[in-house]
Amino acid sequence: MSAHSSIEWTHATWNPVTGCTQVSPGCDHCYARTFAERFRGVAGHPYQQGFDLRLWEARLDAPTRWKRPRLIFVNSMSDLFHKDIPDHFIVQVFRTMAMLAPQHTYQVLTKRPSRLFNTPLVAQITQAIGPWPAHIWLGVSVENQASTWRVDKLRVTPAPVKFISAEPLLGPIQFNLDGIAWLIAGAESGHGARPMEEEWVRSLRDQATAAGCAFFYKQHAVRGRKLPVPVLDGKQWQQFPTEVPHA
Ligand code: SF4
Repeated sequence: MSAHSSIEWTHATWNPVTGCTQVSPGCDHCYARTFAERFRGVAGHPYQQGFDLRLWEARLDAPTRWKRPRLIFVNSMSDLFHKDIPDHFIVQVFRTMAMLAPQHTYQVLTKRPSRLFNTPLVAQITQAIGPWPAHIWLGVSVENQASTWRVDKLRVTPAPVKFISAEPLLGPIQFNLDGIAWLIAGAESGHGARPMEEEWVRSLRDQATAAGCAFFYKQHAVRGRKLPVPVLDGKQWQQFPTEVPHA
């Protein structure tokens, strides 16, 4: 949990779960895994177990301690819908977001939206918190055309604000943006980063604009080195889908 985040499209991170496993090429250079594995075996460190999946009961109410509304990226160090996270734990995360600390706006981002497609988990969340509130945004990560199936799963979830993070963007993508409020694009950075072409970003910007979808160009990188605040066609693109709290 961090009260401040360097991720451009959020203010803070909250990690009631840490650790994860790979599902697709977008995971190949997972920053969370690289970070966590650095501390494997370090006694007393939160990542003593590296990137092994770990549930943190004691962190479940952490957002209640932040009184001022902020944008919170949920599980920046995991994926809330990983198969090994029990339904009841996910429901508790939703209870915190919807009922205990509803002053914030939450950004839940997953590569595993199937867990929200017509499953008992959805019924349990609804039973616990009622209709899905607009301050809990739900997004999917999509890195290439082959992973756009995640958007189709996202589209039929009950989340009122749906978004896509196309990062790391590994190739050109043609989206169906029906029902999608926000599209983020960004290059991979760091050691061994795979290059991104600006033309792919321009296409996403144009698709978003045509669909009335907010667009956020998060980062570009040259030979893995992240460039500060990327500009596309003479303009920074840092739109949000709704009014958001000030940082
Ligand atoms: S799903 Fe996300 S957190 Fe999990 S391994 Fe892939 S990139 Fe990392």
